[in-house]
Amino acid sequence: MSTPLLDVRNLTVGYGDHQPVLHDASFALNEGELLGLVGMNGAGKTTLMRALSGGLRPRSGEVSFRGTRMNGSSTAASVRKGIVILPEGHRVLRPLTVEENLQISAMRLSRRAVRRQIAEVQDLVYGLFPILAERRTQLAGLLSGGEQQMLSLARAIIQRPKLLLLDEPSLGLAPVVVEKIYSSLRSLQAAGISMLVVEQNSDRVASACERMIVLRDGRIAATGTPSSLQGAELHAAYFGSDGKRPPAVAAGAASC
Ligand code: ATP
Repeated sequence: MSTPLLDVRNLTVGYGDHQPVLHDASFALNEGELLGLVGMNGAGKTTLMRALSGGLRPRSGEVSFRGTRMNGSSTAASVRKGIVILPEGHRVLRPLTVEENLQISAMRLSRRAVRRQIAEVQDLVYGLFPILAERRTQLAGLLSGGEQQMLSLARAIIQRPKLLLLDEPSLGLAPVVVEKIYSSLRSLQAAGISMLVVEQNSDRVASACERMIVLRDGRIAATGTPSSLQGAELHAAYFGSDGKRPPAVAAGAASC
């Protein structure tokens, strides 16, 4: 069997002296895969993403990327190795133009690579989001929320990731923009970029991913294809057996 792109073994993560919020998580992400990660508020999704991107040092366990142990790597080192995170919310530099935002992101790579990276990836980015090409001289702070999310994603792409970690890329966006974002994710996957996508809306990510992980109370409660995680199983993994089921997410669970 080939080595997975990302191999996570018995990962336990917490903040300060507090009890861990992520317990003993193990999973693999294969080359070219778009893996979904779902769970309720506070389940530990963002915490897992932070630990994978170098933003938070795990208490125990192992993270291997392309066969190399990553534990304790800084965010910058992770970016150089090819792991780039798109955090929740629109992360743009509001007083700078669209083009300057892209240039600054490219500078996280080595200086010599900057011009080449921008030239190489600019076509891809502007092809995915033509609106950004039209607005390249506009200040990022004047873009709409959807355009800012496209720019955030473009800033991640320009760092040439092999693995993109996306934390709720559809949060707060109009359905038409969500479609645009997910269509761009499919294009990126076709271009060879692997992804771990966190969503609270399991319906949205289920329609885009090959496999999903359900996180519940800091533990992996279920893993499988969206169709194998049938409604009742996903419901139990998501909410437990107490019967509480928020209607907004129940709609998503029902379609899996
Ligand atoms: P949401 O869907 O609401 O974003 P989540 O599944 O991403 O939730 P996390 O943000 O990972 O969940 O939070 C998991 C737990 O860790 C929560 O109980 C939260 O209060 C706690 N937590 C998150 N960030 C910190 C921090 N910086 N310091 C201490 N505790 C934190």
